[in-house]
This record gives sequence, structure tokens and C-alpha cells, in this order.
Amino acid sequence: TRLEDWARSDKYHNSFLIEKDSVLDAALANSNANGLPEIAVSTAQGKFLKLLASSIAAKRILEVGTLGGYSTIWLARALPDDGQLITLELSEKHAQVARDNLANAGLSTKVEVIVGKAVDSLAKLHPDPPFDLVFIDADKPSNLQYFTEAKRLVRKGGVIIVDNVVRYGRVADPSYIDDNIEGVRNLLKAIQGDAEVDATTIGTVGEKGYDGFLYAIRK
Ligand code: SAM
Repeated sequence: TRLEDWARSDKYHNSFLIEKDSVLDAALANSNANGLPEIAVSTAQGKFLKLLASSIAAKRILEVGTLGGYSTIWLARALPDDGQLITLELSEKHAQVARDNLANAGLSTKVEVIVGKAVDSLAKLHPDPPFDLVFIDADKPSNLQYFTEAKRLVRKGGVIIVDNVVRYGRVADPSYIDDNIEGVRNLLKAIQGDAEVDATTIGTVGEKGYDGFLYAIRK
């Protein structure tokens, strides 16, 4: 099946399950207008993140990798009035576009965008109170570092999601060797011997092609 067919499939399902949303459309349009890469989560995946955050009644959410704040908006919409989301972004430009998009979404008071290398920003965060949910979607070679920090910052029973861990099945194909793929492999190897988390990978297919996310619970 070709990528266009999977895009059609997403569109078909979304037409029943996800209402047209001018705020999210504007966020993507503004991101494109500012030259940001089109690497946000898909609409269906964004909605999944929101549903997940709602399911666990998340009050504190941490995101690593903001881009233009598309996934951030989805996640923040699940927060109660006194909820908070902290999102970490290396690029000052991406962060500014995200802040604009979050303001347009009416979410500025709930969301803090912190600019800098995520490893540095994470080191300064404290689990008081701990986070309920961490979404990791930044530079893939740093996955394991981010996951280790996420474990420190999330509550017992809290959820850590890592995006893009299947990569067209290439993570499992030894003939592919690149830093992004190695970043996923290193994470998997570390989780294998880690008694503090319980995890599974869910493969996905849709408008972004074949990929998947890792879903972990802090024990
Ligand atoms: N989560 C976003 C969404 O779905 O809308 C997409 C995030 S995009 C895949 C990855 C982002 O991570 C980019 O904006 C990139 O600038 C940022 N990034 C790359 N390296 C980083 C680092 N070392 N620290 C923080 N952010 C980084």
C-alpha cells in the first residue's frame, strides 16, 4: 500500500472521529509559513496523545521537542484549569513560533516553553510534584538520556511515550546504521534490563508512513 493510501486512510478515519479545528490548522499553517519542517505528529496521533493524557487525568505534562507546538496544543488541551505543561526546545525560532501558536490556542498560561538543549533543561527540572506524562519527540540519538531523565521526573505509574521508534521497520534491520536508528536501539537495550519500567512498542501507519511509539509505565 502506498503512502497516499495511508494518508487517505487517516483522512477517512479522522472524518468520523476528529472535528475540523481552525486553531490546529492555524498552528500548522503558521509553522509552515515560518519554514519549520513538517515533522509534527499526525492529527490522529495528536488526538491519541490528548486522549491518553485525559485517560490518566494528567495534571503535569513534560514534552521534549516542541517544534511549532502542534503536539503541545493537543496535550495541553487535556489539562485541567490548574494543569501545567513544560515543553523543551533547542531552537529559539521554533520556540517563538510555538509560543505564538499556543497564544492563539489560548494555552499560554498553562504551557511554558523552555529554550535550550533538552539535556540541560531536563537536569534543572525537579519532580516536585512529579509529572504524570512525558512525551519524548526530539533528537533521536539522545533518546536514552531523555528517557532516563523522564523516569526521574515522572510519578510511579506515570507514562513515558517515545515517538518514532519503528522508522519503517529499519530499527529492526541490521543493514541500517544511522544515529537516529542507533538512538532507538540503545533505548530498547537499556529498557530490556530496566526493572523500573514496563514498556511496549505500538507500530503505527498513517499519513506519516510506517512508524510507531514506545509506551512505558514507571513502576
Ligand atoms: N513534538 C512536535 C510535534 O509533534 O508537534 C515535533 C517535534 S520535532 C520532531 C523535534 C524538535 O526537537 C525540533 O523542533 C528540534 O528543533 C528539537 N530538538 C532537536 N534537538 C534538540 C535538543 N537537543 N534539545 C531540545 N530540542 C531539540
